[in-house]
This record gives sequence, structure tokens and C-alpha cells, in this order.
Amino acid sequence: MDENRKFTQGLLQYLNDSPTAFHAVENAAAILKENGFQELKEAENWALEKEGRYFIVKNSSAVIAFTVGTGDLNKEGFRIIGAHTDSPSLKVKPGDCTVTPDGYVKVNVEIYGGAILQTWFDRPLALAGRLVVKENGVLREKLVQIDKPVFMIPNLCIHFNRDMKEKGACNKQTEILPLLSMKEDDMEKEDYLPALLEEETGIEKGNIVDYELYLYEYQKGIFTGKKQEFISAGRIDDLSMVYAGLTALTQAQAQAGCQVLAAFDNEEVGSTTAQGANSGLLLHLLNRICKNLGLSDEGYFQAVANSTSISADLAHAVHPNYSDKHDTENRPVLGGGPVIKYSASQRYATTAMSAAYFMQACERAGVPYQKFVNRNDIAGGSTIGPALSGLTTIPTVDMGAPILAMHSIREFGAAADMEYTRRAFLAYYEGGRL
Ligand code: ZN
Repeated sequence: MDENRKFTQGLLQYLNDSPTAFHAVENAAAILKENGFQELKEAENWALEKEGRYFIVKNSSAVIAFTVGTGDLNKEGFRIIGAHTDSPSLKVKPGDCTVTPDGYVKVNVEIYGGAILQTWFDRPLALAGRLVVKENGVLREKLVQIDKPVFMIPNLCIHFNRDMKEKGACNKQTEILPLLSMKEDDMEKEDYLPALLEEETGIEKGNIVDYELYLYEYQKGIFTGKKQEFISAGRIDDLSMVYAGLTALTQAQAQAGCQVLAAFDNEEVGSTTAQGANSGLLLHLLNRICKNLGLSDEGYFQAVANSTSISADLAHAVHPNYSDKHDTENRPVLGGGPVIKYSASQRYATTAMSAAYFMQACERAGVPYQKFVNRNDIAGGSTIGPALSGLTTIPTVDMGAPILAMHSIREFGAAADMEYTRRAFLAYYEGGRL
């Protein structure tokens, strides 16, 4: 099997195994450990060494990994790649299931991030996330994954809804509640979810203190297309960039500067959390690395001034059926390579200089690249770049592999772009100072 295929198969496996940010981080930590990275706890003493490979985990849903360089950190700085672990989803609300007068048992959910809700209908849905349990009086967290089709949100039939096409949007409170079961005689509305968890995970319902549980599509990610050149899967945004960054970091030879991969949580809801990009998480870590390696405050500020970063989130490819949604001259396509994202209003952090160092990394790797900017009459999205750059004051390029159907329950991309991105990241990590 060629290297490209092997990489994309690994990516699909990672997507399929990571239904939530918690699982994405757990699986990332396993890959890091396999490659000689050592986990550090924020609350313990550290003794970093040159060429040492380390990582920290925050809230079980964000991870930052780094390789200490061989040179003077104040002169060589950090080469940072940022991405995010979370994806739009349906999150189970606290409290009981709803039992309707007709005897349907529905789970009560809220919407996490900007999901295309229509894509969640008529699909078998499974359940995963984190439980907090009490064992012998001590609180512990347990990741759970019930990888079974247990929920469904059935569409209303066309016969009751003739104007469906015109209507489009659904009511977010009343129309998206997933069906779990029919009412059972000996069950109350508070029993259904704990009973399911106990049955599937073996954790006694009396020990469950609280939970963060998300629904996800039961069907797995696959290759598609005439030559199987595409991938169709959930959570390509942004776990494909996390995986490309992880693979590049584990493959990169240590260089003079320090190589960093920061996979933050909560990008889809604005990043302002302890484990999000708009927090002190990365900044504190950069400071701590410098101090632990014996740098003064002065040295730390120099190191920051000699650093660069990449904010890796996905980009919109030109859609085959909606080609007028893009700018007339900047038209990235599937398979054309990673996309540099520009915005005059700085919803992307890219500057001419940060774009240039990314283009140079692509050129060193022999990887094509493309450019994206919104039409002036379409607002478009944003990502972690502005927060990452604003908090750290480190120049940042916003980029990502081009995909279609962003925020659908299944997104769509080209295998080639994922592999191009890995190679560009590797060249960036192994490149020297600007
Ligand atoms: Zn994203």
C-alpha cells in the first residue's frame, strides 16, 4: 500500500475511533505515547530536556504536545500548529428523558456548535462522552462509547409536510429530539438513560454523578469516488488537521527550535474556555517551557518574538452545485492542496508574511497550495487563528485542507489533501527560522 493511502486509512480510523473531543484526546495521547512522548501533569514539577518529547492534557478534551529543540530557545523560538478537537453535535441535556402521551421515549438534547441539523435526521445515532462517577467516595471520570445505533430522529413524512422544501429549517427545540424507545410499564422517565448507561458500560447508575454525552453518527467514515479518492466521514473538521499535525510532530526530527502541536477544545462555540484557544492554556505552557529550560523573562519574550504558528482548520472547496458561492478569482478545489485563508476583517489571522512561510513549507514539501477569501456579500466563518495570534502575539497563518459539507454529520474531502497537509506540516516543523 502506498504511503498516501496508509496515512488516509489511519486518518479514517482516527475519525471513527474519536466520536467526541474526549476520545480524540485519548487516542491522540495513545499515538503520542507510542512515539516516545511523555505525559506531564500541570500540577507536578517538570524537568524538561533537550530533544525531549512531552505532552499535557487539559480537561481530557485538549492536548498540547511538544518536542524541545536542540538550540537556544530564545533565539530559535517555537514552531506551533494549532487545531481543534470538537465538532458540531447534539449534546444530552441534564435531567430526564421525555415520555410523550403517545408513549414515545425521547432523549432531551441541545445543539453544540453550528450543526447542519437536517443531516442528523433518519440516521442511526450512537452515544459517547464522559461520565463523572463516584467510586468509594472518590470522584473519577470515565469515557464511555456506546457504539450501537440506539437513537433516531425520524423525518416528518412528505405527505404531512408538502411545503418541506420551501420551509427548510427545523424547530431546534421540538423537531430534533431523538427517539430512544417506547414506554415500558415499569420504567419512569428518569430511568431510561441511566439504565442504558448501566447496561452498556457496566457502571452502576447510582454511582453516576454527572455526564457530558454527545450523539454521533453510527455509520463509519469511508473512501468514496471513482478511484476511491474522496473520504466521507464525520468530524473531518477538525480532527483531520489534528491527525495531520500529530503525525507530522511524531515524524519530525528535533530541530533547533521547539515544535508544538496544540489541539484545543470548544472552537465550535467560540474558544473561550479553559481548554479553548482563547485562553491562557498555550501561553502559560510556552512560558513554562522557557522557564523550565532556564530562560529569564527576557529570554521568554525573545523566544515568543522568534516564533511562528499555523492555525489549521478546514477550508471551503468550491461546491460542484453551488459554484457561485465563492470569490471569482480564489477558487480552491478538492485535491488541489491545502488552502491559505485570508480575511481583510481579520476573521482569519493570515498576513502576507505568515502566508509566505506556509507557502515556503509547501514548496519544500513539493505540495501544491490554494487560496481562499470570502465573497464580499458572504460573511463566512472564523476559527482559532485570531485568538491564537492575539493572545500569543505570534504571527499566524490560517489554513486548512479544502472540504465540502462543512458541519454536516458527514463531511467530504479528498484523500490527497490530507496527505499534502501532513507533508506541509512536516516541512514546517523541520524548517528553520524565517
Ligand atoms: Zn473547524
